[in-house]
Amino acid sequence: AEKLLNDQGKLASIGQISASIAHEIKNPLTSVKGFLQLLKESQPHYYLDIMESELDKALATLQNLLHVSKPDLFEEPLVPIELCKELDSLLFLFQEKLYNVKTELIFRDSERVVVGKRNLLLKAFFNLIKNALEAIIEKGDIKIEHYYEDGFINIKIFDTGVGISEDILKKLGTPFLTTKTEGTGLGLTQVFTTIHEHGGTISVQSVIGEGTVFHVQLPCD
Ligand code: ADP
Ligand code: MG
Repeated sequence: AEKLLNDQGKLASIGQISASIAHEIKNPLTSVKGFLQLLKESQPHYYLDIMESELDKALATLQNLLHVSKPDLFEEPLVPIELCKELDSLLFLFQEKLYNVKTELIFRDSERVVVGKRNLLLKAFFNLIKNALEAIIEKGDIKIEHYYEDGFINIKIFDTGVGISEDILKKLGTPFLTTKTEGTGLGLTQVFTTIHEHGGTISVQSVIGEGTVFHVQLPCD
């Protein structure tokens, strides 16, 4: 099964609604957090620590939501990015999760640079690698390929994880779509908007029980 992720219209309207809700909820929560911190100073109690860390989780989710629904709020300069180097460092972030995962990096044309918003793009690749790792239950392989072809840098992320059902594949990229108990369903939405914002494309191929490959193409001259 294969799908090209390009359903931009639906995303725009869901995005606008989500952004306004995220804003409305974030402000009061931030204020609650401020008073909680004051309270902790005068009357420390571990219940308050739990409350604060739960609030932080909610605030982080809202922050992600703003990220995917209002990318223009996160204006970043366009800079040259050496993706091979960055992908290498990203994998390093996951090192303690990699003990049961064999990784293989096949970097061709690594001297090519992509011009883009560094934080957004790295976050997108972080989200793709995270999903690949989460798809692997006991052990498996992740392979990342990088090569140049016809004006595009191609990045392919292969995993031998659980795979994606037809049903989910059809809806991939929709905000809040998740099959995980602790998932937010915002990772691929961020990936999706970021790659499109950079004039790129993304497609996915998956076979249940065998694995998944995400193929990202980013313009590069
Ligand atoms: P989350 O990871 O929080 O669930 P995402 O937007 O990152 O949200 O992914 C949405 C859903 O897409 C996941 O819950 C999972 O079902 C599916 N998915 C994404 N990447 C993969 C992958 N590499 N292998 C299997 N399923 C995946
Ligand atoms: Mg995810």
